[in-house]
Amino acid sequence: MTTKNLFDLTGRTALITGSTRGLGRAIALGLGAAGAALVINGRDPEKTRAAAQDMRDAGLTVRAAAFDVTDEAAVEALFRDLDAEGIEIDILVNNAGIQHRQPMVELSLADWQRVIDTNLTSAFLMGREAARRMIPRGHGKVINIGSLTSELARATVIPYTVAKGGIRLLTKGMAAEWTPHGIQANAIGPGYMLTEMNAALTSDPQFDAWVKGRTPAGRWGRPDELVGTAVYLASDASSYVSGQLIFVDGGMISVL
Ligand code: NDP
Repeated sequence: MTTKNLFDLTGRTALITGSTRGLGRAIALGLGAAGAALVINGRDPEKTRAAAQDMRDAGLTVRAAAFDVTDEAAVEALFRDLDAEGIEIDILVNNAGIQHRQPMVELSLADWQRVIDTNLTSAFLMGREAARRMIPRGHGKVINIGSLTSELARATVIPYTVAKGGIRLLTKGMAAEWTPHGIQANAIGPGYMLTEMNAALTSDPQFDAWVKGRTPAGRWGRPDELVGTAVYLASDASSYVSGQLIFVDGGMISVL
């Protein structure tokens, strides 16, 4: 195998949750460009259909799957449908996530649970169904999307911090149970990236200046800057890497 082939995803199928926009869409396009067929997801059926069509127009093989990743029955139904269609998921990217900014003393239980369910429990539900099929096949890749808050807390985003901290240890747990079966489970921790989720932050001059000053790279990250790490973790190039969280953050987490 040549070094270039190490990163080739031809013949593999990748399911990326929350891939109608933002980081998930960029990761999907990157995995597709490396040769993978794609299953893309969002809650909104029309947006999911349109995003899938855009990717097909770009020459990729794409199946749209609109469902809510927090809904256990919907997750199970999706995998049953894929089984019936003969689609085997080789690569699962647990990317869907939401943010909710509010001081903890004002936070409702419903908002706490919504953030934990979307950012953490979803990775359990999706990972469980994917691994039930990957284990008998003896191979597979799981990539969970963490955050700088997988390591560090930040005021007003406590449930998000707890969920992303949980992603870090869920990844290690998946690695503990599934690596013996030929499955590598790893995580990516993006820094501050230019997506819709951060619209309120990028448009705030003070926050924008803080990110640029606090990040050694001196700027926000672009979604496509996650592609290299995603392809690495999805491919044979990472065949002996499991349980890791790789930060793609312009150096932010490494400095004071
Ligand atoms: P966006 O808000 O831009 O996109 C989120 C995507 O997830 C959309 O496709 C959305 O579609 C989908 N989604 C949200 N909730 C659900 C759900 N319950 N079921 C299915 N799909 C859902 O977010 P980003 O691209 O910025 O973030 C992607 C991931 O990266 C998240 O996990 C986030 O926490 C993480 N991250 C982001 C960073 C950043 O700076 N942007 C930094 C670190 C981590 P729809 O709303 O139609 O369902």
